[in-house]
Amino acid sequence: MKALKERILRDGKSLPGGILKVDSFINHQIDPCLMRQIAVEFVRRFASSRITKIITIEASGIAPAVMVGLLLDVPVVFAKKKKPSTMDDMLSTTVFSFTKQRNYDVVVSREFLTSADRVLFIDDFLANGNAAKGVACLCRQAGAKLEGMGFIIEKSFQHGRDLLEDMNIRVESLAVIESLDNCQIKIKEE
Ligand code: 5GP
Repeated sequence: MKALKERILRDGKSLPGGILKVDSFINHQIDPCLMRQIAVEFVRRFASSRITKIITIEASGIAPAVMVGLLLDVPVVFAKKKKPSTMDDMLSTTVFSFTKQRNYDVVVSREFLTSADRVLFIDDFLANGNAAKGVACLCRQAGAKLEGMGFIIEKSFQHGRDLLEDMNIRVESLAVIESLDNCQIKIKEE
C-alpha cells in the first residue's frame, strides 16, 4: 500500500533490536485518514470472505480494527490483557510479548466469541507471530472460524508469517519491512 509505505519511510524510526517506531501515526498519535485507507485496503483484500466479527488485541490493534468493523458493519472485539473482575466466563491464553520480552495472558468473554463467528484478526504488527498465534488459539477454543489475519506492518526478517501459514491461516500485510539494519528502513517492493 503506497501511502502507508511512504509514511513509514517519512515518519517511521528504526530502533535497536529490530523495532520500528511508528508512534506519530499508528501507535500513539493516530492518523485517522491513513487508518481509513488501511481499512479500505483490508476490506478489499478480504472481500471474498464472509466475515461476521473483527478481533484484535488491546491497545494498538483497536484503531484499525474499528475502522474495518465500521466498513464491514460487523462488531469488533478486543482481547484484553488483564482479566476484568466483572468477567467470569472467558477464554484465555498466554502470549509472549516481543516488545516487552515477557508472557502475558489475553482473555475474551465467551459471550463475544462463539462458534457462530467467522473472524478476521487485525493488528498493527506481525513480528514473530505470538500475538496472532494466541488469537488463533482463542478462536479454536470458541469454535469460531478464523477467516484470516490482516497486519498493517509485517517484519519479514522475523518469521511470524511462516508460523501462521503453517497453521493454514491466510495472512495479508500492507507493508513488509525486509530489514531495519543500521537504522535503515528497507521496505519490500510489491
Ligand atoms: P509478535 O507477537 O508477532 O511477535 O509481535 C506482534 C506484537 O508486538 C504487535 O501487536 C505489536 O504490538 C508488537 N510489535 C512487534 N514488533 C513491533 C515493532 O517493530 N514496533 C512496534 N511498535 N510494535 C511491535
